[in-house]
Amino acid sequence: MAKLDWIREELKELKDKGLYVTIRKLESSQGPWVVVDGKRVLNMCSNNYLGLAAHPKIKEAAIRAILDYGVGAGAVRTIAGTMELHVELEEKLAKFKKREAAILFQSGYNANLGALSALLTKKDNGVFISEELNHASIIDGMRLSGAPKVIYKHLDMEDLKKKLEENKDKEKKIIVSDGVFSMDGDLAPLPEMAELAEQYDAMLYIDDAHGEGVLGDSGRGIVDHFKLHDRVDFEMGTLSKAFGVIGGYVAGPEEAIEYLRQRGRPFLFSSAPNPPDVAAAIAAVEILQHSDELVKKLWDNTHFLQNGLRELGYDLGNTKHPITPVMLYDEKTAQEFSKRLYDEYNIFAQAIVYPTVPLGTARIRLEPSAAHSKEDLQYVLDAFEDLGKKTGFLK
Ligand SMILES: *Cc1c(COP(=O)(O)O)cnc(C)c1O
Repeated sequence: MAKLDWIREELKELKDKGLYVTIRKLESSQGPWVVVDGKRVLNMCSNNYLGLAAHPKIKEAAIRAILDYGVGAGAVRTIAGTMELHVELEEKLAKFKKREAAILFQSGYNANLGALSALLTKKDNGVFISEELNHASIIDGMRLSGAPKVIYKHLDMEDLKKKLEENKDKEKKIIVSDGVFSMDGDLAPLPEMAELAEQYDAMLYIDDAHGEGVLGDSGRGIVDHFKLHDRVDFEMGTLSKAFGVIGGYVAGPEEAIEYLRQRGRPFLFSSAPNPPDVAAAIAAVEILQHSDELVKKLWDNTHFLQNGLRELGYDLGNTKHPITPVMLYDEKTAQEFSKRLYDEYNIFAQAIVYPTVPLGTARIRLEPSAAHSKEDLQYVLDAFEDLGKKTGFLK
């Protein structure tokens, strides 16, 4: 099949450049310890921040939903796919986020695609004003929209102001940003952003994928953390990270959400999320509404791990979040750390290197969860001390 030969070439090129992704296979449920390729390893790279992915109450909710509603929703939301479970989850999410309404999508990726492409189109006299390090799903949503975008520098409010000033005559402006940046754990300066959005009459759209379940009162997210509920127009979220399930949503003013139900393409053209997933997500929101115990445990674990690493002499950058970038700078060192943590210490931790982050800023990204014990985290600290000395990284 000569016409497909280019694919072999492409794959070879990825491997030659060190960009080929090796996909590991989990043979157990998601949790603090997992079985990967037959080996039991301490999992330090999952977004299951609160340990909800295999929580007994959530598993039960999913099983009950299968018995009551079956496994598939059977249609897109606008035809015959909307079940009472979907509506219940949307109402619960809106209440949890302290917003008027919410719309559910199949994933966070779909939520960004659906909302951004509906809020601005290439027919509008408008522009996206997008933060430099935004997630791929935001970038794809803006692409699908076809509307122009300008990019402002990471966390740089001077530059945001400049870009707003340059585009002040546009009818529709949307400032769009991740709330928490997933490679560094740093936070968007939302109070300043809200200020600028008001000054320039721009909409403000925040992706809270890593904020939910982590920041704010009982994990209500970054907008709650800064107490800006009525000043951020759209809060997009995912149900796949701290909530431990799958799905995405956008919360905001009632009419705006109603508009997304009419115009959000993945809502209109891709089938509704499955009943067990929706029921599991409802149970996850209920757990958080009921108690902030898991969120507190997550932060307690985060401080334990991050203080310990700093005491050992590691630089954790500017993190304000459980996302813990252990800076090793050199790409080869980071790859070696990840491999040796896995082979010699049974710790599953990802190296993040160029082109995901700039050259010379390679790191191991650790993600503690509420499900880890102090012993688990002490084990990680001991491994980082030992390996840091063996490699000569720690003097
Ligand atoms: C993970 C992530 C998404 C996508 O969410 P899924 O539910 O996994 O599709 C979107 N935005 C950000 C910032 C993310 O980290």
